[in-house]
Amino acid sequence: LLIAVEGIDGAGKTTVAHKLAERLRVRGMTVIVGKEPTAGPWGAQLRATAAQGRLSVEEEMRLLLLDRRQHVDEVIKPALDKGDVVMLDRYYPSSAAYQGARGIAVSEILQQNAFAPAPDITLVLDLAPSTGLARIRARGDKPNHFETEDNLARCRDIFLQMELPSRVVIDASRGADDVLESAWEAIGNVMSA
Ligand code: C5P
Ligand code: MG
Repeated sequence: LLIAVEGIDGAGKTTVAHKLAERLRVRGMTVIVGKEPTAGPWGAQLRATAAQGRLSVEEEMRLLLLDRRQHVDEVIKPALDKGDVVMLDRYYPSSAAYQGARGIAVSEILQQNAFAPAPDITLVLDLAPSTGLARIRARGDKPNHFETEDNLARCRDIFLQMELPSRVVIDASRGADDVLESAWEAIGNVMSA
């Protein structure tokens, strides 16, 4: 089972991913939680450069794809082959949203990611960019210079509109407990289908 947790910055992806993983483990499942960009060489390079200036969107896409290929080959596929659950805090829908917001056609991004296994469920944690940015500041982080309301609004629209068969949209403006319950219910629906 491959579960992707998606949404703009400040949506609560990391918290939900870990809480869902805990609940699945209580049910006896082996769950791996992954995060993209990863802590590997390509992902680390992406994060380091994003903190300073920003790469061209082409260079960003190139590094993201290298990072994802490694993640898929070394972590995601082996875990799925063993029958483990893979929970991802961002995956290729984030590339569609963020690099799509910078001008690459979403359809092209999806084609470039065709090597990556499709999620069985993609939880899109949806909230207004102003709320996401307020949460980032409230937790003491400084939003990256490109995390503006305009840019995140473009990302949000792509998350909601892109071709993504497994998408479940969750209202992430609510408290963490309500968001978790909705996400848990959505996973239950997919697993019992
Ligand atoms: O919160 P998280 O660690 O997931 O954020 C990663 C950073 O990388 C964020 O600033 C996000 O805006 C950015 N990002 C991006 N393109 C992607 C994925 C993440 O610019 N495809
Ligand atoms: Mg996060």
